[in-house]
Amino acid sequence: MFKPVESRTSFPRMEESILEQWKKKDVFRRSVEAREGGPRFVLFDGPPTLNGNPALHHVLTSIFKDAIPRYKVMKGYFAPRIGGWDTHGLPVELEVEKKLGISSKTQIEEYGVDRFNELCRQSVNGYLSEFEKLIERVAYWVDLENAYVTMKNEYIESCWWAIKQMWDKGLIYQGYRVTPHCPRCGTSLSSHEVSQGYKDDTEDPSVYIKFKVTGKLPVDLPGDKPVYLLAWTTTPWTLAGNTALAVAPDAEYVLLEVKEDYLVMAAGLVPAVGLDDYNEIKKLAGKELVGIGYQPLFNPHEFDVERLKFQKDGGLQAQKPVKDLTYKVISGDFVTMEDGTGIVHIAPAFGEVDYEAGKEWGLDFVQQVDLQGNIIGSYPFAGKFVKDADPEIIEDLKSRGLLLRSETIKHTYPFCWRCETPLVYYAKATWYIRTTAMKDGLISGNDAINWYPEHIKYGRFGDWLQNNIDWAFSRERYWGTPLSVWRCESCGAFECVGGTSELKEKDGFSGFKEPLDLHRPYVDELTFNCSKCGGTMKRVPEVIDCWFDSGAMPIAQSHYPFENETLLEDGRFPADYICEAVDQTRGWFYSLHAISVLLFGKPCFRNVICLGHILDAKGEKMSKRKGNVVWPFEVVEKYGADALRWYLYTASAPGNPRQFDEKQVNEVSRRFLSTLWNVYSFFIMYANIDDYKPTGENAPLPEAELDKWILSELNQLVKDVDASLDNYGLTEACRKLEGFVDGLSNWYVRRSRRRFWKSENDADKLSAYNTLYECLVTLAKLLAPFTPFLAEELYQNLVLSAAPDAPESVHLADFPSVDESKIDRQLAEDNRLAMKVCSMGRSVRSQAGIKVRQPLETLYVGVSSEHEEHALDRVAPLVLEELNVKELKYDSVEKVTGLEGREYAVASEAGNSVAITTFITAELEAEGMAREIVHRVQNMRRSAGYDIADHIKMYYEADAWIMQSLSSFADYVMQETLAREIDESVPDDVDLKDTFKISGYTILLGVKKAE
Ligand SMILES: [Zn+2]
Ligand SMILES: [Zn+2]
Repeated sequence: MFKPVESRTSFPRMEESILEQWKKKDVFRRSVEAREGGPRFVLFDGPPTLNGNPALHHVLTSIFKDAIPRYKVMKGYFAPRIGGWDTHGLPVELEVEKKLGISSKTQIEEYGVDRFNELCRQSVNGYLSEFEKLIERVAYWVDLENAYVTMKNEYIESCWWAIKQMWDKGLIYQGYRVTPHCPRCGTSLSSHEVSQGYKDDTEDPSVYIKFKVTGKLPVDLPGDKPVYLLAWTTTPWTLAGNTALAVAPDAEYVLLEVKEDYLVMAAGLVPAVGLDDYNEIKKLAGKELVGIGYQPLFNPHEFDVERLKFQKDGGLQAQKPVKDLTYKVISGDFVTMEDGTGIVHIAPAFGEVDYEAGKEWGLDFVQQVDLQGNIIGSYPFAGKFVKDADPEIIEDLKSRGLLLRSETIKHTYPFCWRCETPLVYYAKATWYIRTTAMKDGLISGNDAINWYPEHIKYGRFGDWLQNNIDWAFSRERYWGTPLSVWRCESCGAFECVGGTSELKEKDGFSGFKEPLDLHRPYVDELTFNCSKCGGTMKRVPEVIDCWFDSGAMPIAQSHYPFENETLLEDGRFPADYICEAVDQTRGWFYSLHAISVLLFGKPCFRNVICLGHILDAKGEKMSKRKGNVVWPFEVVEKYGADALRWYLYTASAPGNPRQFDEKQVNEVSRRFLSTLWNVYSFFIMYANIDDYKPTGENAPLPEAELDKWILSELNQLVKDVDASLDNYGLTEACRKLEGFVDGLSNWYVRRSRRRFWKSENDADKLSAYNTLYECLVTLAKLLAPFTPFLAEELYQNLVLSAAPDAPESVHLADFPSVDESKIDRQLAEDNRLAMKVCSMGRSVRSQAGIKVRQPLETLYVGVSSEHEEHALDRVAPLVLEELNVKELKYDSVEKVTGLEGREYAVASEAGNSVAITTFITAELEAEGMAREIVHRVQNMRRSAGYDIADHIKMYYEADAWIMQSLSSFADYVMQETLAREIDESVPDDVDLKDTFKISGYTILLGVKKAE
């Protein structure tokens, strides 16, 4: 006996009970351990950041990560997989700042870095349990008990080891450079972070400014009006830092006379600037302007701001105050004639190109903005945030007659990806990893990686590597892995430390207090003696980019090399598989790849699925602000995890974005899961009635064409799903499974129903049971990686009820293997034709307005080859029964199409046509009536609550024609309705009676359970 199954079920409740079983029987751990000794399959789990509750995209990555190792385990691979948590970084700090109601680094330091970091630790721990719950509920099987946690001392120590390796290879340096800087967060961003925060249509000022020439132009001026160089900028706040103007040496410039003065600008850009009225005085080559002096807009000395100057070695030196400061025009190959005026404003403290020009020309360096983005000194607009100072600066210049025009433009501008503050480019000291030194290795390493979808490989990811720049990896923050570099307070020497014992063994080591915590501020207390001069070595203040943490997980999760020394050789490295969303090409995918190539000279993952983002139903990004976030627990509670999983696997190709629509989850559940459930409950119901016992391997080969066909399809399915999964094609595999379940339900079961109903337990019935049983059991195993709950439910009931010695869970079973001998391509073709003919036949009937229950005489099929005739011969009984037609004839497609007329309804479609006779003889009409009555009685049996195998007595009252119809088809009616007798009057003591109107006739029907 199988466990009885309701025809409708609550998937969420079923899943909950299966979760309990898995936990009780420890199935995940056992599924891994059972394969020990098999070939290794390694998954690296990308750690989610614990700074918010888990969202739908976490489910998406989780289930894609889950399916492949499940499959591999069923194929005999040993695949322990360990989860991980990303716990450091700005996002966590921001969250705590918000809780404390503070928003600057000064406030954090006043509050105390120790207390602040403790709150960061508590904050990430607070989100942990929600993530654990979700991962469990959606059945992402990953070891969370031993999960790696980036804030643990051991993890940090491995990161230190990695940094030291790079340090020893000369790959880490401190550079004074212009870096994208978030003034709110008070820290630099790496280029991959910047690339995540561009916003189009950002409104900014667009101003044309006049710089007064103090030197002499190589032109005789007709009057004594002042001369100005016209420059253009969208960042007025940088103007007080201007120390040069640049021109293109070979471009043509022009001196114009306007109302009150003379203006110099590029000749080609005059129309774009849009002057009202001007006279052209003379054309000049750019190089003729080089060296001409002009008055700075703001002399830094007058506003209490330091003026530095680039030295020959690239260093900066403070300068004495000068009253009449002049700056000069320089030439630059970066000056283009695309926009502006062809004269470029240079502020070396605020732009990469500007900084380089400053070094090259020995320019002044004026940094009148602090790291919080506020203007310093005593300018009228001092103390303001740079963007807020813009209008006041414009007003100031206007009042001094130095502004030609001011407008606003919309352009693309980078914002902090975390806090959405506009970034400023700011010259400061930053620590770098010299990834460019290993650029070739990064690129050739990528050659060995399989990307799904493939275009990412040399597209998004390959481009990123091609345009590689050094990784700015220090952060001037608090909650992160401290940068393991110490600096001598006396002689300035640096030392990099690669581990805690190394640190403790340093000469003069002091400041250590138990328990060890490698975070700030405790690590900042640890000092030792300088090996060069004996001075005190203190740690530099920076922490590192949290992407370094996650990118170091292949080694840091195992505390390598302090433990697990054989990690690199024993099969645990590199990973066979990783999977995350597409934004990680510049995030985790990159940091993993870069660290691995820099440390070991090779990539650390072989295959990667790169998933598209989840959008809302309208195609918009989900965000808390917009209020369109879908919470995964709510979806799972309604439809179950399997439905959500199946939806996410099938909604679109893995690399494409998914527009999440809850209705579609429901639709998927109805169309796929419920269809399969119906087949399953149908099987269980009849199998229990007939006391069917699976015969296993020894079942005789089926004789019915239908059985052979579905077994052929089944084996083809096993082959296809196996091949797709082997190639990381999860969506493909799911589509095949959907196609099979559709064929199983709508062709195999539909055409076999009668074989299960019939009362004789003959070989044909047994063959149908064996066949359907094999299909369902095989499906359970094929579905196990995708819908682990439903697969388990099917397996538990179908397999374990019959064979208690079988593996205790579908996830402990082997993946099915194909029996090629059962694949019959011809039979598959034949059935495809049969299904096509039936679908055409049904549409012909509905066109003619004749119900399927009304038998018809002849079906003509127009075939285009003899081949098709043979095919139809083989499947004719199925077609006749499906279309309720007495005989099948062939002819050419044209002839059958030509039958169109009064007595035939015709349809044609791609190489075939069908025609059905519409003339209904009296005998056919009587048979149709018998069928209509059977249908009504079946419904009454259900309403009366009879068991499917209960025998009944049937009663009716109707006119003579119906009596005659019923008596000529009495055997048929009795067989179909399990009626022991049919009575021509309806007594009072029936279980149920009802009056029906059928084709204009009235009939009273009654049913009663037979003794
Ligand atoms: Zn920020
Ligand atoms: Zn020293």
